[in-house]
Amino acid sequence: MIEIKNIHKKFGKNEVLKGIDLDVKKGEVISIIGPSGTGKSTFLRCINCLEDADNGSIKMDEKEVELRHIKLADKLWLRRNTAMVFQGFYLFNNKTVLRNITIGLTVVKKMSQKEADEKALEILKQIGLLDKKDEYPSSLSGGQQQRVAIGRALALDPKVLLFDEPTSALDPELVNEVLMLIKDLAKQHKTMIIVTHEISFARNVSDKVCFMDGGKIVEMGNAKDVIDNPQNERPKKFLNVLKNRDELI
Ligand code: ADP
Ligand code: MG
Repeated sequence: MIEIKNIHKKFGKNEVLKGIDLDVKKGEVISIIGPSGTGKSTFLRCINCLEDADNGSIKMDEKEVELRHIKLADKLWLRRNTAMVFQGFYLFNNKTVLRNITIGLTVVKKMSQKEADEKALEILKQIGLLDKKDEYPSSLSGGQQQRVAIGRALALDPKVLLFDEPTSALDPELVNEVLMLIKDLAKQHKTMIIVTHEISFARNVSDKVCFMDGGKIVEMGNAKDVIDNPQNERPKKFLNVLKNRDELI
């Protein structure tokens, strides 16, 4: 359903993405793990056109877009069909929870305010925050704010949801509510690409796991295989560090 081919990206002389290919089927959850600085965020940002890739293509359903010299209309098409959830939630602090969700619907989707309100209330029910609809983000916990950010992305009905370390900025006790919500979305067969360091979560929730290093995918496979029994040295080493972290401290 989504075919990402040969994504290349340089920042000046720094070649950050060296040809990334990824196929994601409808309803599939793919987690990306790997050391920091290997281009995981840049990869998601290229899919969402927050960065212009130098090369590569993205096919979703029947339409294929070449990223080199991409046309504005194609960029807008990609943005409309992908929605990103960031590590820092980037909510509008001067808008209520309800308005944080409706703004994308009225501005991007051109819905009427009434339609947008109905949709947003449905989403708030789904993410368990209906009672917070008139609150401002600053009165919510980080976990609740991230759930609103996920709700805002969901409301846009994207073909794929992109998560960039969605729990990395959260206090440890707030991580689970966000992971549970994402797990719930996986059960509803939302198509998702998730960059995360939560390896148990990645193992349990994803269909496939990719290990990225040095701007390439160095291993990809069934989530349990890659996490429990990686074949390549780099993921072996990295995953061992993550697995032993708790024991070491
Ligand atoms: P990861 O998410 O895996 O930690 P990033 O995609 O954030 O990695 O970054 C990969 C590399 O690209 C890093 O060396 C980073 O410094 C560089 N980089 C990312 N964004 C920019 C940018 N806007 N301008 C210049 N260099 C960047
Ligand atoms: Mg990153």
